[in-house]
Amino acid sequence: MDSPGVAASPDLFEAENQALLTARAAHAGCACSAPSQCRQALGDLLLAYERLLRETRRLVRRSDRAELEMNQLNARLQDLAAELEHRATHDTLTGVLNRAAVIDLVNRHFAHDDLSLIVLDIDHFKRINDSFGHPMGDKVILGVVACLQAVVPATAHIGRVGGEEFTVVLPRQSGPASERLAQGLRRAIESYEFDLPDGSGVTASFGVSWALPGGDFDNAYGLADEALYVAKRGGRNRVCLAACSLPSLEHEV
Ligand code: GH3
Ligand code: MG
Ligand code: MG
Repeated sequence: MDSPGVAASPDLFEAENQALLTARAAHAGCACSAPSQCRQALGDLLLAYERLLRETRRLVRRSDRAELEMNQLNARLQDLAAELEHRATHDTLTGVLNRAAVIDLVNRHFAHDDLSLIVLDIDHFKRINDSFGHPMGDKVILGVVACLQAVVPATAHIGRVGGEEFTVVLPRQSGPASERLAQGLRRAIESYEFDLPDGSGVTASFGVSWALPGGDFDNAYGLADEALYVAKRGGRNRVCLAACSLPSLEHEV
């Protein structure tokens, strides 16, 4: 029965109901005119038809319920597939892209874009773990990611490629512009309040590379990593741009 206020849905069996009403009226009216076995047969047929109609309605309701359940299961399956995809491509601690996803992303962009890659590594991170424990180290990692997220443009992609090493992928951004961005990131980390028990701050060193379309992750990462090494050797808390990260004249427009 439809609940009050809810518009009744059209009855699937309107024609059958009408046929039933007509047959019932005929059954009632043929008491004296038709032979008794005809009347009996019509009565039996009416009963069988009514039973069939009830059973069919029950099956339709059951099939509607099964369809609803199937739709709900399908939606859940899609949620789980999305969650699985997210877990396969993101770092569990920080929520940024994991190493495999960064490699995939960079290589896909290089198919048609020039691209800058910033690689950064937290300075003396082992000291933080050793002095204040692993959970404090994790908190610093989260703080560094918060700094990156606050500064990078919407077109950039942040990834965690090692324990305390991160990348910022910048499609179609020049080496010098990326170097300036890395300086902004460096300053953000340097001035961030990490709340270390001894009141000390945290810094990171940066290597930046730029390459034309057709490049690949291994090459871009290798160049940025070499530049990072130069930044570390130079005293840490600094940014170094890989030497071949400026377009040669033939590429300039
Ligand atoms: P440098 O300035 O040369 O980079 O020195 P560092 O101490 O930062 O570098 P090192 O490679 O010696 O130490 C990195 C440490 O990071 C060692 C490792 O135990 C720690 N680490 C890696 N992953 C995690 C993590 O997920 N959480 C925490 N708390 N520590 C981690
Ligand atoms: Mg490291
Ligand atoms: Mg380090």
